[in-house]
Amino acid sequence: MIIVLKPTANREEIDHIVNMIEKVGLKTNVSTGEMQTIIGVIGDKTKLANYPIASLASVEKVLQVSKPYKLASRDFHPSDTIIEVNGVKIGGGNLGIMAGPCSIENEKQMSEIAEKVKSSGANFLRGGAYKPRTSPYSFQGLEEDGLKILKKVGKKFDMSTVSEVMDTSVVLLISKYVDILQIGTRNAQNFALLKAVGKTDKPVLLKRGMSMTIEEWLMSAEYIMSEGNQNVILCERGIRTFETAYRNTLDLMAIPVLKEKTHLPVIVDPSHAAGLWQYVTPMALASIAAKTDGLMIEVHNNPEIAVSDGAQSLKPDKFAILMDEIKKIAPVVGIGHNIV
Ligand code: PEP
Ligand code: MN
Repeated sequence: MIIVLKPTANREEIDHIVNMIEKVGLKTNVSTGEMQTIIGVIGDKTKLANYPIASLASVEKVLQVSKPYKLASRDFHPSDTIIEVNGVKIGGGNLGIMAGPCSIENEKQMSEIAEKVKSSGANFLRGGAYKPRTSPYSFQGLEEDGLKILKKVGKKFDMSTVSEVMDTSVVLLISKYVDILQIGTRNAQNFALLKAVGKTDKPVLLKRGMSMTIEEWLMSAEYIMSEGNQNVILCERGIRTFETAYRNTLDLMAIPVLKEKTHLPVIVDPSHAAGLWQYVTPMALASIAAKTDGLMIEVHNNPEIAVSDGAQSLKPDKFAILMDEIKKIAPVVGIGHNIV
């Protein structure tokens, strides 16, 4: 249920309604816009049956929300959510460009890549320390040693960091080292993990499950948000279809559809969708044209010997060209003022 207040509603009237709702055991989400305040009500609304909210002087109208996700819904929060990480904004036209290798391998590798991607315009450094590999015999990540490298290199180049958390047992450990917690495609419906990251104060980058519908994805965001953490960034990274010519099908339609349904920032990872580096740049540019809020791009200084995902990694010089093209296309669609 959504309560739209009249533009004249004052603080006292807003608090009165919020208290009334919370007294019967329901939760509220107050969104204060420039013109109007909206109060979202979460929980069993029949508890409010005896409260004539619609007839209060400060209330313009009461709307019923049939969507199963509430906090993630644009109905509850009409303006775009802008997530700020150490002064860098993502959302509302600000682009978060996250670049770096699939796996953190060593400090030299991370430093070389960070220096290059930063000078091309990336504003976040990515790198996996806990790797979700299809085979248990593949490289599994440097774990805490990798996180230490990521933190050190991020600091050296003044870049905020992103790394994947695969298990509830390491949520707090990873939170000590990184600025954004990534939930990978394979864990996108690991509800215990979603709740655990929802209890932290770190922004969460929630990748789309490889077979997830948009609604299921938003329900996963709702799991995180219902624990108190409202800073969720959705990341389209390709879904499973019948097509085998590339790794996954990048669902760019998800961008405008999500923009309609949710206020959360939506970014795109063309690297894990493509599986091959030569498809990454065109799909990154298409994402910018579709007004994504950011990109996650795998970049490696020596992809031939990368321990994971070398085939889809851009070399730093190709990433630099991509950034130049982004800087041309983004202003045409009215986004990216923070990177040009
Ligand atoms: C990654 O970003 O390194 C990764 C494993 O991504 P995904 O979960 O999208 O496969
Ligand atoms: Mn990867």
